[in-house]
Amino acid sequence: MSDEESLKVVVCGGGNGAHVLAPLLKSRTGVEVGLFAPYGEEASLFRRGIEEAGGILIRGKGDRPLGRYAPDVVSSRAEDVIPGARLVIVVSPAFAHESILREIAPYVARGSIVGAVPSRGGFEYMARDLLGPDITLFGAQTLPWACRTVKFGREVRILGQKRVLGVATSPPSRVGEVASLLSRLLGVKVYEIPNMLAVTLGNVGQVIHPGIMYSLWRRGRDAVYGPDEVPDFYASVDEDTAFHLAAMSDELVSVARALQARTGLEMGHVRHIKDWLLESYSQDISDRSSLARCFQTNAAYRGLKAPAVRVGDGKLRLDFQSRYVSEDVPFGLVVSKGIALLTGTPTPAIDRVIRVASSWLGVEFLASGGLHPEGLARSRAPQRYGIDDLDQLVSATQGEMIAREVLATV
Ligand code: NAD
Repeated sequence: MSDEESLKVVVCGGGNGAHVLAPLLKSRTGVEVGLFAPYGEEASLFRRGIEEAGGILIRGKGDRPLGRYAPDVVSSRAEDVIPGARLVIVVSPAFAHESILREIAPYVARGSIVGAVPSRGGFEYMARDLLGPDITLFGAQTLPWACRTVKFGREVRILGQKRVLGVATSPPSRVGEVASLLSRLLGVKVYEIPNMLAVTLGNVGQVIHPGIMYSLWRRGRDAVYGPDEVPDFYASVDEDTAFHLAAMSDELVSVARALQARTGLEMGHVRHIKDWLLESYSQDISDRSSLARCFQTNAAYRGLKAPAVRVGDGKLRLDFQSRYVSEDVPFGLVVSKGIALLTGTPTPAIDRVIRVASSWLGVEFLASGGLHPEGLARSRAPQRYGIDDLDQLVSATQGEMIAREVLATV
């Protein structure tokens, strides 16, 4: 019997990614799959959809049906699905991680593996705090699919699949085992990232998403658009925006280098966004002459619009509280800023974006010389979890338990 034939896996979430992952896992021989969907009425919608349609249909490129599969159990109650799970995969926006982890915590067995796909920044601090020391944690750098739910609980479409998926673990020594398990289960090539800190700092979404929103805001914060006039998102990157994105990315690379020099943690995974773009979209970019041209001529980004909300009369305005801000600032840039404070690395370009995003989200993230308590409590910066110096950061990254008495004082 292979490992998977005796494996119970639980997917936590109810959005696009969960619609792909739950049936996909069920397509693997003998894997028992639970779906924990605690949000609103989603669990009953899933159950009804699955019952009426006979499973969730996954469609691939050109709408080609790839199979219809149903998880073995779907529930909004953690106690119905989590017991017995050896692997728990959270697939939701990062702002939903905390409530999901709190609900599953009493039922997660010692020795099991719990992670998020994607993890965004600082997942390990929150998960270690809520789940305790005896769990292997993992974080994936991204979601391996671009996907959209077509009919809730019935059908999902995979628009594109990443060639490779980077994964790190806490403790880092478990990465080989987890990478090989995920690779077999997800059907993608999974490469090992040496530690979860590198996933946090190497998350390019935290640069690209809030950085472009910041530039769009500077250009036309009050603009109102007709339905066909909303600007392109990635193709809007001009030389000025690219200069700013490069400055943010330079700062993250500097933080990573300072960390490696002072702690010995391997940070080579944290690269500049231009290098990342050229590697990730090697076939899609037709003009590599500048960072701006890489964004403008990337076929994979073509036609993708900036997030916008309706303001009446069929008009729209840019949505500065969209996922690109509400996920990528508190669970991206603010976490990286917290780490930069521990290395003493200045981050003026990142600070500018966090300050403006604070006004969009109505939360103060920065205080003079540090993090504001209000924003800290809404983020996953290491300081929220009592990690106040590099030694503590190294211990947390190596998966050593964060002392409960420290947490109690935060
Ligand atoms: P999604 O937008 O479909 O997530 C919405 C779901 O999140 C809801 O249906 C609900 O189940 C859950 N949720 C929302 N608010 C919640 C709350 N307050 N409490 C509990 N649950 C809540 O998300 P997705 O598209 O599945 O993306 C998952 C992650 O993958 C995100 O981090 C996203 O940025 C990333 N990602 C997605 C894609 C994609 O193509 N879908 C591509 C790349 C990265």
